[in-house]
Amino acid sequence: MFDNLSDRLGTVFDRLRGRGSLSEQDVRDAMREVRIALLEADVALPVVRRFIDAVTEKAIGSEVLKSVTPGQQVVKIVSDELTEMLGGDEPAELNFAAKPPVVIMMVGLQGSGKTTTTAKLGKLIKEKHGKKAIMASLDVNRPAAQEQLKVLGEQVQVATLPIVPGQQPVDIARRAMESAKLQAADVLLLDTAGRLHVDEALMAEMKAIANVSAPTEVLLVVDSLTGQDAVNVAQSFTGEVPLTGVVLTRMDGDARGGAALSMRYVTGKPIKFAGTGEKLDAIEAFDPGRVAGRILG
Ligand code: GDP
Repeated sequence: MFDNLSDRLGTVFDRLRGRGSLSEQDVRDAMREVRIALLEADVALPVVRRFIDAVTEKAIGSEVLKSVTPGQQVVKIVSDELTEMLGGDEPAELNFAAKPPVVIMMVGLQGSGKTTTTAKLGKLIKEKHGKKAIMASLDVNRPAAQEQLKVLGEQVQVATLPIVPGQQPVDIARRAMESAKLQAADVLLLDTAGRLHVDEALMAEMKAIANVSAPTEVLLVVDSLTGQDAVNVAQSFTGEVPLTGVVLTRMDGDARGGAALSMRYVTGKPIKFAGTGEKLDAIEAFDPGRVAGRILG
């Protein structure tokens, strides 16, 4: 994760740290290299601009350059700005503050990792939060989707709503709500259908499901390997359904990290989780400070 960026920044910062004094020009030169490294990591251009401007202003217009460890201080400024770019100090938590069953609706394109992530969250909610969860697949488009969630549910030992062939998504959502209430579940996870592209039919379906289920969380699942496309998908969803956060999957294979670094600034939505593998415990709460630390080594 972030390997390339980490290597590039490491080289720039080792050079900065190694110097006893820094001139304004040294900072500007270093920032030029950081800018290239961020662009190569596929970070969106407006995000890169804002980042470089913020760091340059803080590093040059203050006491930093006159201090005894100017290199260290510049690196600290970069670390703070990176944390900000990734979402600030607060690690994103799931919101359970609603009358149970708290509904978590999962949305996203086909193949983004939505069903896998639903099962990962079911497991996490049961094991980490000690809550009773039930999962329901509303995906009637992909033939084996409901069956897939059932199998994953058995693996993580989280109940799934029994499949009723031919039932439509909104009706499945209603039945899932009833069932979750009857079973006194704390949390209901709704795994919705994806499409190959964002389209009107998909958005209409998501709105209808949100209307009947009043979700506390609407989590958009996107594939981090698709880089800026992931950010574009998130932007398309943002105006249509009330997203509360993003889950970035396949972070384990993403050496660049552009989606993670652009997502918060471009969409205004927090990244709540990172998927880090195919296994059902390969999910991490997204902590911006920790991720920034990882990038800077
Ligand atoms: P959906 O169509 O959005 O429901 O996607 P699936 O949940 O079926 O996932 C598609 C494929 O991506 C599956 O083979 C998953 O095992 C894989 N996958 C999902 N999340 C991750 C992840 O975080 N890392 C890796 N390496 N693979 C993942």
